[in-house]
Amino acid sequence: MDERIYLDHNATTPVAPDVLEAMRPYFSENFGNASSIHSLGRAGRNAVDTAREQVAELLHAQSPSEIVFTSGGTESDNHAIRGVADYYADRKGRHIISARTEHHAVFHTCQWLEQQGFEVTYLPVNRYGRVEVDALRDAIREDTILMTLMHANNETGTIHPIEELGAIAEEYGVLFHTDAVQSVGKVPVDLRAMPVDLLTLSGHKFYGPKGIGALYVRRGTRMHHLILGGSHERNRRAGTENVPGIVGLGMAASLALKHMDQEAERLRKLIQRLEQGLCNQLRGVHINTDPEHRLPNTLNVSFEKVEGESLILGLDLEGICVSSGSACTSGSLEPSHVLAELGLNPRLAQGTLRLSLGKQNDETQIDHAIETITRLVKRLRRL
Ligand SMILES: *Cc1c(COP(=O)(O)O)cnc(C)c1O
Repeated sequence: MDERIYLDHNATTPVAPDVLEAMRPYFSENFGNASSIHSLGRAGRNAVDTAREQVAELLHAQSPSEIVFTSGGTESDNHAIRGVADYYADRKGRHIISARTEHHAVFHTCQWLEQQGFEVTYLPVNRYGRVEVDALRDAIREDTILMTLMHANNETGTIHPIEELGAIAEEYGVLFHTDAVQSVGKVPVDLRAMPVDLLTLSGHKFYGPKGIGALYVRRGTRMHHLILGGSHERNRRAGTENVPGIVGLGMAASLALKHMDQEAERLRKLIQRLEQGLCNQLRGVHINTDPEHRLPNTLNVSFEKVEGESLILGLDLEGICVSSGSACTSGSLEPSHVLAELGLNPRLAQGTLRLSLGKQNDETQIDHAIETITRLVKRLRRL
């Protein structure tokens, strides 16, 4: 039995047993290429069609044909942003609206487009990383072709006012892409109420497999496509379909739809317990997650006079897996681009943990985590 306490679900989640079971036959007896005409191919095609319906249902999309399977969140973000930019550059303009708190898959794509002659306006955010709706109206111009703003932030768990932002984009005729990787499967993402044209999701953030994701493309949205080749995915994403991955994503979507409300309520209580526990036990604790507009599973918290890397390594030795507030890629000590944008002073940003809960966690684990974090923070402060 694994005794580890995993509090890093925003980085990735384990594949749910039912998801693995659903995928298994598509590695072996049902190995057909979904584009083949024979019976093995048709079995693969049917499985892909079912998964497309499951994903469409989770999002309340108008039609399954609006779902394009991709290799994950990063590809979907690139596809959406570069696809729209490329299509509209010579038709309408080269101005894009985003924020500096976006995931690197969006942020680095925007920066690359700036190097290609596009202009990007980055909206300001408040101390929890939430964009101000009024700032959007001021940013929109004649030549604005796209707004790309995430639904929930992966580091802070703060949720953006997508409905209001989308309504403004719609009013001005600007296409709206949202990276919903962190919200899909955790909170309702209902396209009937969300005026977005393009939406990114990723399987491994909600108990599906890694290396599979989807891009929702509202019917009628004009754009170019990123990966050229065969006529897969209605000419929108070439390459032989990752049938097992797609089947797994479909099953993960279907499980999320069934269990979301109950699980969100359970996680909300656990995260509250964690936050209150830490605030009661320790002084100098700063919460960076929006108190109202937040994911049910995420707490981003800074401890004064603590070096975050030491805290994380200490927690790992005690079997507790968490993330830091540093740039996640390099093991560097630079505060993450998101925390820097919140206006957190760099010393405080260094002492930041991102705690993200999921299905495996229960009250006993949370109490143990509170006790361990408290003990380690006090020890590090004495040094
Ligand atoms: C994880 C994540 C991504 C990247 O998704 P992958 O499937 O890992 O490429 C993009 N955006 C956000 C907000 C994420 O949390």
